[in-house]
Amino acid sequence: LSTSLKDAVKKLAGKAVVDRAAVEELIRDLQRALIQSDVNVKLVMQLSQSIKKRALEEELPKGMGVKDHVLRIVYQELVSLMGPETELELKPQKILMAGLQGSGKTTTTGKLCRYLQRKGMKVGAICCDNFRPGAFVQLQTLCKKINVPIYGDPNEKDALTIVRNGLSALRDVEVIIVDTAGRHALEDDLIDEIMQINDAVKPTHRWLVIDAALGQGARDQAKRFHEAIGIDGVIITKMDGTAKGGGALSAVAETGSGIVFIGSGETIDDLERFDPDGFISRLLGMGDLRALVERAEEVIESDDLDVNAMMKGKFTLRDMYKQLEALNKMGPLKQVLSMLPLGNMNLPGEVYDVTSVKMQRYRVMMDSMTDAELDDPSVLGTSRIHRIAYGSGSSVDQVRELIKYYKMMQKALKGFKGGGRFSMNRMMKQ
Ligand code: GDP
Ligand code: MG
Repeated sequence: LSTSLKDAVKKLAGKAVVDRAAVEELIRDLQRALIQSDVNVKLVMQLSQSIKKRALEEELPKGMGVKDHVLRIVYQELVSLMGPETELELKPQKILMAGLQGSGKTTTTGKLCRYLQRKGMKVGAICCDNFRPGAFVQLQTLCKKINVPIYGDPNEKDALTIVRNGLSALRDVEVIIVDTAGRHALEDDLIDEIMQINDAVKPTHRWLVIDAALGQGARDQAKRFHEAIGIDGVIITKMDGTAKGGGALSAVAETGSGIVFIGSGETIDDLERFDPDGFISRLLGMGDLRALVERAEEVIESDDLDVNAMMKGKFTLRDMYKQLEALNKMGPLKQVLSMLPLGNMNLPGEVYDVTSVKMQRYRVMMDSMTDAELDDPSVLGTSRIHRIAYGSGSSVDQVRELIKYYKMMQKALKGFKGGGRFSMNRMMKQ
């Protein structure tokens, strides 16, 4: 699929005028990719119309080739499909979480607490889910880990009472996140309850939490919640799974609001601010090649990645981190690597699975290591691992995961039999 998209793009290259047939072919491939990623058909059709109209009608900017012109339009239209850019101010505020049961509200509440705490805010959470047994304990466990105060009362049946008591108990907190009850389906009493909570809290933001795998159901959910409380941001959870999250774009269209965060795993650190580039690349199964190459050159010019030295076996933890950092700046690792000769090797799937959140964790753990350990991770035995875990506030498993990742990269690089002198910079330009 991504091959055919790439081929369609290639067909536009070198043309002097925009070729209608080539544009149509590109749009067809784009449609196929988006629909496979669960994007609503109506949205796909609207997008196709505007791309086609602009590609054929807009004048070719001076000095720009047909391919770049069309790619730029495609990219701009895709970005507008992602909704407006969202702003998250670091100020006192209240955030109300909405969504059906299982969408990830409670988990995301914990993650948000962590995220804002890291930004230096005093955070607290209210659990007014008195519907699902164990909801309070679930949130309490998450918050306890990060020392965030939480208010809840498993014996109180009235959600409004909980909210009112919670607001007064958390008077001294700057950001209050209100986790609400979900139901299996949209029911009137759920909507009534969240409307009342909304009136009582008068939240700064009302965010809708949507499971990436939701597909077409996202539209109805978004519509109901939006009519009830006025959704002003969408959070897509479980993006670490196989789903591409295209369904959630219906929620964006329905509410006219942007995507605020992406949930990318089950731990409290697995939350990322939304990045349209990454999301689009994932929807299409390919990156915006032009932007990718441009960014790649920018990054690499300043910090030439020396693959040659790495292949000679001089690959330290510091090297690994530097590589990851540079590669991550260019976009999703998988797309970047697929453009390099390196990408033709059979790398284990986990190699690609490095989010910026994980990188932060790696960084913190590496800060707890000695120079000798960073240069030669093979010295890391059990007692050192425990010391590093303790020093960095991580778990032993997390330290082991970092070491495992390092070994995997090291092994992959050893298997890479290229040769000669070359740098990533030159590889990118090929
Ligand atoms: P709620 O009913 O909306 O409060 O949903 P929960 O927060 O209880 O989450 C439901 C399930 O989804 C739990 O098992 C979570 O661990 C899981 N979950 C939530 N967010 C994510 C995510 O970003 N990635 C993964 N893999 N699982 C998630
Ligand atoms: Mg919950």
